[in-house]
Amino acid sequence: MNGEGRIKKTPNPPGRCIFCGEGQLTKEHIYAAWMKPYLTESKRTVHHVTTSVHPALQHLADHRNEVGKMHLKGDHRSRALRAVCRSCNNGWMSVLQSSAKSVLLPFIQGTYHSPTREEQKAAAAWVTMFAMVFEQADLFTRAIDQKQRDFFMRHLKPPSNWLIWVAPFVGSKHSASTRHRGILFSGETPVETIPPGFMNMQCTVGVAGNMFFMSLSSTHADVINFGLPAVRQLCMDRGFLRAWPTVGFQQNASGAVDDFLFVNIIDEVTETIYRSFNSIWR
Ligand SMILES: [Zn+2]
Repeated sequence: MNGEGRIKKTPNPPGRCIFCGEGQLTKEHIYAAWMKPYLTESKRTVHHVTTSVHPALQHLADHRNEVGKMHLKGDHRSRALRAVCRSCNNGWMSVLQSSAKSVLLPFIQGTYHSPTREEQKAAAAWVTMFAMVFEQADLFTRAIDQKQRDFFMRHLKPPSNWLIWVAPFVGSKHSASTRHRGILFSGETPVETIPPGFMNMQCTVGVAGNMFFMSLSSTHADVINFGLPAVRQLCMDRGFLRAWPTVGFQQNASGAVDDFLFVNIIDEVTETIYRSFNSIWR
C-alpha cells in the first residue's frame, strides 16, 4: 500500500499507546476504513499541515507553518499513524467507529439534518478521536494532554472545554485533507525552546466526502473563558452544526465550507481568539 512503508520508518517516540499507555502499537487509519469509498482519490500531495503560533507576539503573522509527516504524495486514504495499541484499536475505538458511522455517513454523502443529542455525541466522539490521533503526526504541535485522553477513553465523549462542529463541504480540492494547529499561550517563552507537546490550544479541521469537521480544545483559562465563546459565535454565524457541547434546539446546516474557507478557517478561528483577548491583554 502506498505510503505505508514510509510511515513505518517513522517511530512514535514514546512507543506507547496514547490512550492506555501499553505497548504493542498498531496502525490506526487517519480516516476510518469504512470512509474510504466516500473519499476522493488523489494522486497529488494532500495537505496535512501542522502549525504553531508564537503567543508572546500576539499576532498571527508569527507562525511556523509546516507540513507534517502525513504530507505526502500518493493515496492519502490509506494513511495511518502508529499511536494506539491493538486492544484500544480493536476494542473501544472500534465500537466508537461503528456508532459514529451511522451518524456521519449521511453527512459524508451530503444529506444533512438536525442531529439529536445522541447523534451529536456520537459525531463529537469520532471527531475527538480523530484529533487525538492526528495530532501525533507532529509532536511539536501536540496540545491534548494525557488527562484529556484518559477522560475520553473512560467516558467516550470529549472533555470539557472542547468545541466540535460539522458542516457541509462543497469544495472539490480538499476531500480527505486535514489541518492541525497547536498554539502555546504563555507569554515570553521563545518558541524554539518549547519541548514537543507543550501547546495549550489545538484546532483540527478535516474533510471526509461532503462533510467538514472541526475541533477546538484548550487548557488555557483565557482561551476557555474568552476565546471559546467567541469561536462558538463565529461557527454559529457561519451556519455550522454544533456537535459539542450538544444542543437541544433544532439546527440548520445553513452554511457550508468551500475550498477557500477550508484553508482559511483555522486562521479565522485563531484571529477570533486573539481578538477576544484584546480587552484583557491590553
Ligand atoms: Zn491502548
